[in-house]
Amino acid sequence: MTTRPKPKLNLRFLILIFVLLSAVATLVNSFWVTFKIQKQELIENALDVNKAYASRIAASVEQVLNSDLDKLKYGSVGIGRAFGDTSYLADEVQRLFGQDASFNSVLIADAAGTIIASAPESLNLNGRTLQHKEPLSLRTAKISHAFKSIAGNLVVFISHPIFDVKGEYLGLIGGSIQLEQKNTLQALMDTNVRKDGAHVYLIDSSRRVLYHTYPTQIGSIMDKGLIAEAAISQDVGTLEAPDESGVEMLAGFAKVPSSGWGVISQQPLANIEAVLQQTMAKVAQGKAPLALFGIVLIWWLGARISAPLSRLADCAKRLDTPDSYERISAVPTRYFESWQIRRALLLGATLLQEKIGKLNQQAQTDALTGLANRRAMQDVLSRWLEAEKGFAVVSMDIDHFKRVNDTFGHGVGDETLRAIAQLMQQNSRTNDLPCRVGGEEFVLLLPGSSLQIAADVAERLRASIAAADIETVGHITVSLGVALWHPTGDSISAVLERADQLLYQAKQSGRNRVVVEQL
Ligand code: GH3
Ligand code: MG
Ligand code: MG
Repeated sequence: MTTRPKPKLNLRFLILIFVLLSAVATLVNSFWVTFKIQKQELIENALDVNKAYASRIAASVEQVLNSDLDKLKYGSVGIGRAFGDTSYLADEVQRLFGQDASFNSVLIADAAGTIIASAPESLNLNGRTLQHKEPLSLRTAKISHAFKSIAGNLVVFISHPIFDVKGEYLGLIGGSIQLEQKNTLQALMDTNVRKDGAHVYLIDSSRRVLYHTYPTQIGSIMDKGLIAEAAISQDVGTLEAPDESGVEMLAGFAKVPSSGWGVISQQPLANIEAVLQQTMAKVAQGKAPLALFGIVLIWWLGARISAPLSRLADCAKRLDTPDSYERISAVPTRYFESWQIRRALLLGATLLQEKIGKLNQQAQTDALTGLANRRAMQDVLSRWLEAEKGFAVVSMDIDHFKRVNDTFGHGVGDETLRAIAQLMQQNSRTNDLPCRVGGEEFVLLLPGSSLQIAADVAERLRASIAAADIETVGHITVSLGVALWHPTGDSISAVLERADQLLYQAKQSGRNRVVVEQL
C-alpha cells in the first residue's frame, strides 16, 4: 500500500487564509468600485462646472460687446448727420473714448479707410489709413480678430458703419480694445479668477488668445489641441483632452455669439486625481477599523469552528489508548458535523477497545483449555509482586500422561487436559488463577493464601482428580508441589522454581501426592 503524504495545512490555517483572502478581495473590490464611481462623478462634476463657468463668462462678454456696439451705433447716427463737421467728429470720438474704459482708442474713418477723427490724440492716427479694412467692404457692425495695430499693440477692433440720412455709406466709427492693457473685458474676467487650479481663457475665431489667466499667453495662437478646436466650432460643451502642452485637461467651453470667440474654462485632470486620492484615503481610514474588526471576528469564529475538529483529530491519533473514550467525550461539539464526527470516533474507539480487549484476552488465554497461559500468569504475578500482595503457588503435572496419549491417541489426551482444567476451575475460588503453563503442566495461583490453605486446596484438587472418571481414559492422577511467596526479596522465578522442585519430589516419592514447602 502506498502511503499518502501528510497534508501540511490545517483547518484553522485554511479558514484564516480563506477569511483573509475573501476580506481582502471584498475590500479591494469595494475600494475599486468606489474609486471608479467617485472618479467618474468628480470628472463629470468638474466638466459641468467648467461648462457653466465658461457659459457665464461668454454671456458676460457677449453683453460687454453688445453694449460696446450699441455705444458705437448710437454715436454713428449723429455722426452720419454731421459727417463734414470735423469738430463734431472730434468731440464725438473724445466723448466715446472718455465715456468709460470700454475702448483704448476710438476713431472715425471715411469710406476709403482714412482716419478723420481719433482719440486719444497722443496716438496721432488722423490722416492714416485703417489697417483692418474688412468692415469697410462689409459695411456692417463688426468685431474683428485680434491684430497688431498701427501703434504696435495687439488689439480687437469693434466698428459700426456710418450712413447719411439717405442711407449712403460714409465710413465707420470704431473702438479698439488693447488686449495687453487694462480693459473692460479683462476687468470682467479677472473678477472670475478661480482658485482650484482651473484657469480661463478667451480665444478669437483664429484661435488667438485674447484673454488668459496667465497674461503672458495673451496674443499666442492655440494652434494645437482639441479643446480650442471644439470651443470655436461648437456653441457650448465639455471635453476631456490634452491641452497644447499635452497635459490632460477637463474643459468646458462656450461661444460668444456676436464675435465668434470662444471662452474656455479648464483644469488639469491631475487635480481631480489628487482630490480623489484624499477621498480614497479617507474612505480607507473609515473602512479600516470595521474591516479589522470583521477579520478578527471571523478569525475567532474560524477558531471556534476548527477547535472541536482539531481536538477530535488529535483524539483520533490515539484511539488505542484506554482513556480515548473519555477524551473524545470531553470534546464539546456545538455544530452538527463535529457532533457526528465525535459520535463516529466514540463508536470507533469502543470497537477498537473491544477488539484490543479480545486480542489481549486471546494472547493471555490457553486455546485448548481456556485457562490463563504462562504469559497471563507472569503478568498477574508481576502485578502482585509490585503491590507486594502475598500468594501461594501450586505446581501440578499429570502422572504418566504419555501413556494416555500412547494408549488412546492425542485427541483423547487433549480431552483429558480439558477435563483436568475444568476440575481445576471447580476447585479454585474466584480470586484464584488456574493456569496451563506447559503441555500437561498446570499452576494454580492463590492470592493472599497461607501455605496451609494452599496445601488444603492442592490436596482437595488431587483427590477430586483422582476420583474423577474421565471419559475413555478412566482414572488418572496428578502430582503437586506447593510453595509460598516470601515477602523478603523472593522473586517470581524463585517461588515457581521451588514449587517445581516440590512437584518433582512428589513424582519421585511415588506420584499422586502433594508435597508442601517446609517453612
Ligand atoms: P510423568 O509422570 O513423569 O510426568 O510421566 P509423563 O508421561 O507424564 O511424562 P511427561 O510429564 O514428561 O509427559 C509429557 C507428555 O505429555 C509428552 C506428550 O506426549 C504429552 N503432551 C504434552 N503436551 C500435550 C498436549 O498438548 N496434548 C496431548 N495430547 N499430549 C501432550
Ligand atoms: Mg510433564
Ligand atoms: Mg506428566
